[in-house]
Amino acid sequence: MNRWTTFAAALALCTVCSAAFATVNIFACLPEWAALATELGGSKVSVYQASNALQDPHRIEARPSLVARMRSADLAICTGAELEIGWLPVLLQTAGNQKVQPGHPGFIAAAEFVDRLEIPTRLDRADGDVHPAGNPHIQLDPHNIAKVGLVISQRLGQIDAGNAAYYESRSKDFQGRWGQAISRWEKDAAPLKGLRLVPYHKNTVYLSHWLGMTEVMYIEPKPGIPPSAGQLSELVARLQAEPADAVIRTAYQDPKAAGWLSEKTRIPVVDLPYTVGGTAAAKDLFGLFDDSIARLKAVKK
Ligand SMILES: [Zn+2]
Repeated sequence: MNRWTTFAAALALCTVCSAAFATVNIFACLPEWAALATELGGSKVSVYQASNALQDPHRIEARPSLVARMRSADLAICTGAELEIGWLPVLLQTAGNQKVQPGHPGFIAAAEFVDRLEIPTRLDRADGDVHPAGNPHIQLDPHNIAKVGLVISQRLGQIDAGNAAYYESRSKDFQGRWGQAISRWEKDAAPLKGLRLVPYHKNTVYLSHWLGMTEVMYIEPKPGIPPSAGQLSELVARLQAEPADAVIRTAYQDPKAAGWLSEKTRIPVVDLPYTVGGTAAAKDLFGLFDDSIARLKAVKK
């Protein structure tokens, strides 16, 4: 073979291999969306998870490695509703990838597809980091996961039309298993109704709303603002007058304030995974809900 035929043969081989193994590159801002995209995309997608469960989703650094991943993405899946406002806009702008800009099929802001809680009636910086589009921590209501899942499946079929039937069948399979899991969780968590919680930040409101638990107060005086020593003492006094069942700390939060409050009030701390990877048992989306419910039920005993 001369040089030219070798080159042509290599080129032909390469074209075949890229057609057979073409994958949709997915950039997932947060672990829950990476897990969901993996469930739905199977072997036809390559999922990059931009942050982990031990990182505060409001505060991720838009470092060059994330820019490079965003540049080569076919689909970006983030929460939206301003959760990632501190890092996603700069990432999208620096990457300059038209496919994944908001408004294009390659960009999904999950919060747009669910009923959001706590949409404020007034906006004032004095109220702290209030999210004007409502509470963005939507992943802890499994009904929201199902809704966002349908959008992801539909977009995958649109972006990678040749595999649309594959995505549809995976979607049906996942939604079936997920619906059964929701029924099981709702039955299993029935004793949690009325449980009185003191979370650090308003990042479990969808879980509480779903299961009928009450968030009686928050350790943060205002969203995104840590409590002062005086404010912590005030919380102790309020909890002595009106006790709660559990102080909630999620995986990415500093355990100090919750631990201190628990010590003073003798109210147990429950460490919740918050997202996939937040605890050893929260290995996937099913584990996230199994483990969250099991940990909350442990305080009821
Ligand atoms: Zn928040």
